[in-house]
Amino acid sequence: MKEQIKCIGCGAPIQTENKEELGYAPPSSLKRDVVICQRCFRLKHYNEIQDVSLTDDDYRKILSGIGDTDALVVKVVDIFDFNGSWLPGIHRYIGRNKLMLIGNKVDLLPKSVNKNRLTQWMSSMARELGVKAEEVHLVSAAKGTGLLDVAERIDELRGGRDVYVVGCTNVGKSTFINGLIKQLGTEQEDIITTSHFPGTTLNLIDIPLDEESALFDTPGIINHHQMAHFVSKDELKFIMPKKEIKPMVFQLNEAQTLFLGGLARFDYISGGRRSFVCHVSNDLNIHRTKLENADELYQNHLGDLLSPPSEPDNLPPLKRHEFTIKEKDTDVVISGLGWVTVKEPGVRIAAHAPEGVAVTLRPSLI
Ligand code: GDP
Repeated sequence: MKEQIKCIGCGAPIQTENKEELGYAPPSSLKRDVVICQRCFRLKHYNEIQDVSLTDDDYRKILSGIGDTDALVVKVVDIFDFNGSWLPGIHRYIGRNKLMLIGNKVDLLPKSVNKNRLTQWMSSMARELGVKAEEVHLVSAAKGTGLLDVAERIDELRGGRDVYVVGCTNVGKSTFINGLIKQLGTEQEDIITTSHFPGTTLNLIDIPLDEESALFDTPGIINHHQMAHFVSKDELKFIMPKKEIKPMVFQLNEAQTLFLGGLARFDYISGGRRSFVCHVSNDLNIHRTKLENADELYQNHLGDLLSPPSEPDNLPPLKRHEFTIKEKDTDVVISGLGWVTVKEPGVRIAAHAPEGVAVTLRPSLI
């Protein structure tokens, strides 16, 4: 039987078929005496972490392994997709370890957003999901904003312990770690070492912090409820803001509907003429119609007038969430897409989002 070749970096079995998966190496590299997977190659030569995804089962094993260690857990979430980028079950796996919560992509928020309110909301969401966040920080991994501060806080909070960075795919975990590496000033040669995790095929990549401890990158898990999975890679550009979002104000009469592409729908049911402020990607097409026509329009025009998605077959049916808004300035948050701020209280609305995508209320961030 042919012996399985393993990466000398992370120990993953080498495969040449799927670039997105663990252990990928180009076929030409198999001629060499020692083989290194593309992920380790990039880390070694470019100081760049690449994300790979794992089966849920392997991921659970890694998370429960972290629970058995004495470490600081740093969890990265996308502030536009808090629920969609939450790791289901993480509260069970953290054990007694401290958790630092990082909200990434802060560069996309309008300047008027109150950052303290955002971190307070993140803390309370985490608590609702069963986790106490020791500290919450906002960063832009892409722009480097807040990373120096976070590097210092990690060093303080870890108190000499190891650090595990966890997060779903697409939250910017790799960009975050690449940015941290720069802040930590870790020497390139030092970087590539590995640690074995019992029960998985994966050895985690670790980045030495000092003689005794290290920062571990864990692979991102796919959260199947993320809005991002319902559209093609090209369409993702329309729903994931690329630059600071510009709030859009709509004056609506009762019984009017706004479609956010074909991915979500906001019905204004009753409450007189009121203003609503949409905070979504500037590239997402917002279509206004009468509530009584909305079902038919969706049925006939999902995929053309109402897109993304242009291929609606993968989209789960929209689920309706009805609310009476009691407080002024309330955000109706559709995870992965953005939020609609309801300015005045006493209105009845319904938000429709693909089944599995969270729709929640929060006090306005502005
Ligand atoms: P990972 O799958 O969690 O490792 O995510 P990546 O680091 O590959 O980033 C996912 C996507 O988010 C990429 O398109 C990045 O360019 C983008 N991204 C990452 N960090 C930021 C950020 O701070 N701001 C913005 N606007 N985009 C970011």
